[in-house]
Amino acid sequence: MPFLKYECPMCKKIIKVNYNQTISRGEVLFFMQYNCECGFSSDEDSTIIPEKFRDEIIQESGLWQLKCYDKIKCLKFLRQKYLYSMEKIKELKKVELITFEGTATEMKALGNKMEKEGIKLIIERIE
Ligand SMILES: [Zn+2]
Repeated sequence: MPFLKYECPMCKKIIKVNYNQTISRGEVLFFMQYNCECGFSSDEDSTIIPEKFRDEIIQESGLWQLKCYDKIKCLKFLRQKYLYSMEKIKELKKVELITFEGTATEMKALGNKMEKEGIKLIIERIE
């Protein structure tokens, strides 16, 4: 499991934090585990990933892009599942190709959901 040196939220000592980003029941989950000498420990899953860890994952495994080839279906999906506003949808209608960027895990989870709706897409590493 990858790890990062991180400041203990209690005593501010620099500790080793194990972390990972996985897909669980279709959702992206961030896992973080550490034990500090001061007694503070954490072993938890969260749907929210701290920016520092996300940056680290992108540094290590690259930045990925999902390209969506089914504009109408894609917009419908974003409106229904991600509650995009009409304003945002209108903006996206003007775009030639709808794309998303993120970690490999994030793009895979999003891609899986879109493919279930029959949306044609590709996912590739861009950085
Ligand atoms: Zn501590």
